[in-house]
Amino acid sequence: MSKQQFYLGIDMGGTNIKIAIVNSSGSVVEETVLETDIKAKPADVIKSIVSKSSKLKNYHKVKSIGIGIAGDINFLDGSVRFSPNLPMWKNVALKGITEKLTKKKVFVDNDANTAAIGAFWLDAKGKAVNLVCVTLGTGVGGGLIFDKKVYRGSSYTAGEIGHITIEPHGIKCKCGNRGCIETFVGAKYISEYAKQYLKKNKSAAINKLTNGSHCGITPKILSMAAAEGDKAAIAVWKYVGEKLGILLADVLNFINPDTIVLCGGVSLAGKYLVEPVKREIKSRAFASAVKECKIIVSKYTSKLGVVGAAMLPKQ
Ligand SMILES: [Zn+2]
Repeated sequence: MSKQQFYLGIDMGGTNIKIAIVNSSGSVVEETVLETDIKAKPADVIKSIVSKSSKLKNYHKVKSIGIGIAGDINFLDGSVRFSPNLPMWKNVALKGITEKLTKKKVFVDNDANTAAIGAFWLDAKGKAVNLVCVTLGTGVGGGLIFDKKVYRGSSYTAGEIGHITIEPHGIKCKCGNRGCIETFVGAKYISEYAKQYLKKNKSAAINKLTNGSHCGITPKILSMAAAEGDKAAIAVWKYVGEKLGILLADVLNFINPDTIVLCGGVSLAGKYLVEPVKREIKSRAFASAVKECKIIVSKYTSKLGVVGAAMLPKQ
């Protein structure tokens, strides 16, 4: 019998905290979840995470703990400088406090990097060498894996793919810049574009799904309508996919990855998003880079963060 290695992963979101024990190939062995109390003191939140984790059957076999959290993270000392989802978390020594409580080695990283590590293990089965992971949700995040290792940059902010400019005079973004890709493919911007589009183009399928009120339109509804063959929804996804494809063509030329993984809620549009992305890439990027690069939609969106966090020590 070979000795199995177990890793504990924690994915700290604004709504819930996912906890899982995974084996050395990234498969989930055991998992649990905790509601996020965003008003609680960070030290108390950490205590309840540790208490919940220690109730897992295989917890005693776990050697290390990885934690993924949105925001500005100092990877070196494992502290959270700032987290947009958790307003109470300012300069919290997350690694230090957790190590003291658990007597285990702890790693902390931002959730875009843990998603990339999760995509590396789950979608690419640990076989990719240079991988770019793009998280498509309310925000647009990116994680980079070069030579099978996470690339974090000089102040650990590398991979901010969502804030690359594609329209110099575009809409003002929350980061202060104008015309970031996030202002085209972020969830609320997709909904806004769809509302404008539907003023000039009729869609019976979307009317039905939103009870006639386009205020309630979301990327999920647009995906459902597209799956029914709705022309307006497909046209909206074509527009979004083309914008994303323009950006990713640059990524292909600049980084020459073997794998790009698209994940997050917006990626669930599947082929309606990916086909225009691929067309745009093919018409813009170097042929050899296009030939070498697989573009995939993650099949594990909800697990990437927690598995990637667990696998942090391996990266
Ligand atoms: Zn921006």
